[in-house]
Amino acid sequence: MKISFDLDGTAWKYRKEFSALAHILKTSGHEVGILTAHSPKLKDRDIELWLARGFPTPDFYICNENKESVAKFKAEAMWKHRIDLHFEDFDGGIYEKQMMDLLILGEGEVVKII
Ligand SMILES: [Mg+2]
Repeated sequence: MKISFDLDGTAWKYRKEFSALAHILKTSGHEVGILTAHSPKLKDRDIELWLARGFPTPDFYICNENKESVAKFKAEAMWKHRIDLHFEDFDGGIYEKQMMDLLILGEGEVVKII
């Protein structure tokens, strides 16, 4: 499976738990990476932090290059990159409905982080 983590409010909030999970998933043969609404300017810093916070080397880094709305960007990124499972806090729930409405049924699942 291809599995992604949002950063703010998700990977950064539960870094001990999610870094442990990410290692287990990678060791089990899954692709594990980052799906964030950050701008590409933050890529190097994000990956540096990701590694410093104990996460395994990411298999991919997907960010919001075209400054689209976060909901649209993330839903489309899930189809485009064929992400099976994404961990997401929806920025405290702000764009949850919008993103879930844009997701095509069966094209990946989202785990809501509170
Ligand atoms: Mg977030």
